[in-house]
Amino acid sequence: EPPPEPTPWERAAEADQLIAEVVLNRPLTEVYHYLVPDALRSLLGPGQRVRIPFGRGNQLLTGYCVGFGEPGATNRRLKSIEAVVDRAPLVGEEMLKLTRWMGERYLCSWGQVLESVIPAGVKKQAGTREILHFVPAEGLSKQLDNLRLPRKQRAILEALCRSEQPMTIDELTAAASCGTAPLQALRDKQLVLPIRRRQETFEIDPTPVERQADLTLNAEQQQVLGEILGLLRNRQHETILLHGVTGSGKTEVYIQAIREVVDYGRQAIVLVPEISLTPQTIRRFRRRFETVAVLHSHLSDAERHWHWQRIAAGDVQVVVGARSAVFAPTPHLGLIVIDEEHETTFKQQTTPRYHAREVAQQRARQEKIPLVLGSATPTLESLWKAKQKEYHLCTLSKRVEQRPLPPVVTVDTRNDPKISRGHSLGRAMESSIRVALKDGGQVILFLNIRGFSPVLWCTRCAAGVKCPECDITLTWHKDRKKVVCHSCEHEADPPRRCPICEMPGMRFLGAGTQRLEEEVRAKFPEHRVLRMDSDSMKKPGSHDTALDAFRHGQVDILLGTQMIAKGLDFPNVTLVGVIDADTLLHQPDLRASERTFQLIAQVAGRTGRGERAGRVLVQTGCPDEPVIKFASRHDYLGFARHELRHRKDSMTPPFSQLARIVVRGSSEATVKGTIRGIAEQLRATISKSELPIRVIGPALAPIARLRGMHRFHLLLSTTDPMAIRTLWQAASPNLELPGDVELIIDVDPLDM
Ligand code: ADP
Ligand code: ZN
Repeated sequence: EPPPEPTPWERAAEADQLIAEVVLNRPLTEVYHYLVPDALRSLLGPGQRVRIPFGRGNQLLTGYCVGFGEPGATNRRLKSIEAVVDRAPLVGEEMLKLTRWMGERYLCSWGQVLESVIPAGVKKQAGTREILHFVPAEGLSKQLDNLRLPRKQRAILEALCRSEQPMTIDELTAAASCGTAPLQALRDKQLVLPIRRRQETFEIDPTPVERQADLTLNAEQQQVLGEILGLLRNRQHETILLHGVTGSGKTEVYIQAIREVVDYGRQAIVLVPEISLTPQTIRRFRRRFETVAVLHSHLSDAERHWHWQRIAAGDVQVVVGARSAVFAPTPHLGLIVIDEEHETTFKQQTTPRYHAREVAQQRARQEKIPLVLGSATPTLESLWKAKQKEYHLCTLSKRVEQRPLPPVVTVDTRNDPKISRGHSLGRAMESSIRVALKDGGQVILFLNIRGFSPVLWCTRCAAGVKCPECDITLTWHKDRKKVVCHSCEHEADPPRRCPICEMPGMRFLGAGTQRLEEEVRAKFPEHRVLRMDSDSMKKPGSHDTALDAFRHGQVDILLGTQMIAKGLDFPNVTLVGVIDADTLLHQPDLRASERTFQLIAQVAGRTGRGERAGRVLVQTGCPDEPVIKFASRHDYLGFARHELRHRKDSMTPPFSQLARIVVRGSSEATVKGTIRGIAEQLRATISKSELPIRVIGPALAPIARLRGMHRFHLLLSTTDPMAIRTLWQAASPNLELPGDVELIIDVDPLDM
């Protein structure tokens, strides 16, 4: 019998060849193996990009080297790496581990994750330039005295040998006070050798801020800080869920925990929902720590690269940033904090569709450090984990200095004469604003309108029109002039009369912030009004300017979307008005109640923060909804208990795990056919492998047409956290996708 063919690995080992593992920025989860030519051996390490010939046509692609190792059982002939792209690794071992985990967790490829989490400015080395430097030829310094050289050439060589560092042309000609000709002569004789070195061409000089001392913590804060410090000192991972009402001093606790981290020469990462909305928080961190890097979305490539390098060098004590700051390359991370952990901006809505909370937890686990999640209204997922003892729950139950939480008053809009005539401000709201302004207070008005067609509902009985088959409110689809169920695809003409109370008066909710602004200006012509939403705040820095104007009393009424619900701290605000609490409540979204509670709690947090007492007025057509009642009593735990029971009955998160598959394309028929095929195949795999997964749908996606694309989706629901991954690994290689159709899989989707 002939001996078995040696495997490529055996052949490579015999020839003492190195094999690199390479991943690609494509939805291919495979790790590919390439020979490393001897000439590239010393240049390549894990975390660097390489150019590789790929596929039959040997198209040159850029991939990431993620390690060296064995090619496994394949008998394919190994190709060689063409070139090494980066001079140094873009990410370290820890980040490679984390990104690999992300690929597995979010059902995408490792290469896609790496491509996404390494900033473009870092890949391009933006803000730096390659500059020619010279070094002396090997052994030259010892020979220098024996060489016969013209005076200027000798002067150059002496300067270069004296210097420990490579020198530029300018530095050499200056040191020897000569022109470039002697240098050229030395180069021709190969007595000096050219090398290329990167130099920064860019520098950020942060404006100094006035430093501030730490505050003395109250007993509750002290208790929480003690728990975090205990974990820090034991070098232990644990996730702490810090539930503290707005203004209870959570941020002060984070700061003092970070103080300990920094004292030990380590770094901290603080994630905030959106940088532009939290200028006060940023200022606070900059006042307390010497070196704070603030990573926000308006940074140029060069700025981002500059920050990245300083962070990697350990020159930054605290990194404050949005979602992606969880990847900051801190060399000795000591603590991660996620402030307002319930905010949806922590979830990325493009591949990899990760949640920063989860990635932070994985990173904290890897690096054996604590993770602190703070919120006045933690997500039910986090609260449930705390109840299961997976997280450690800490509570700050009172506002600092015993300031009371503002009373929340609900106003029933169903019988309001102004509302029924189409106004946004009801009678009570209008008069409350008048009173607040007369007393010299400031007013915040909140109106949240999401980017898609509003809900059809009855102004008499406040019933939203529901699908006959599902417990889901029908949504007005303007493009087709139909109301549609997002669960089962049932569609109908919009009813003229309410199906419940049979009265006419069906309305589309649709007053956005612009219409509100008009109305407010007309009703309060003598007062200064400012609107803040993504339309009016396009320019970078415009938030800061607007908020400054409000803080300095140059604006009396601030109105806007989410933007004004978050983190702001204005002592003179005595009235917060929620124009329509029902816009969130009637979303066909399983978290609609949770969002509504969060919203009311957040806006309530914007008032009563100073010496003056504040008040919250909530306009709603359903004052008897449990969520509205719990919110007006500031009863988060009561709400959570109620809502968790409901989620348990309906087996929705946190009692099940969901994944959503969206198929989109320009032809509706193709998209529909594709998703049906996928559903069939998934169902077949599920029954063959006996996986505990339910397939729901397919149906029209909530946004059925987006940017000219038709979208259908289906849901996978399971109680086994591994099942969806198992299903996907088994089924996805066989899924047939027509060329003009795109498939998205979203694990733990947030907009459901
Ligand atoms: P949260 O992050 O929970 O909203 P903050 O940490 O922002 O709360 O605290 C709310 C306000 O109370 C801030 O103005 C802060 O400076 C102040 N504060 C926090 N802790 C203390 C303390 N121990 N003593 C005095 N003032 C405090
Ligand atoms: Zn339905």
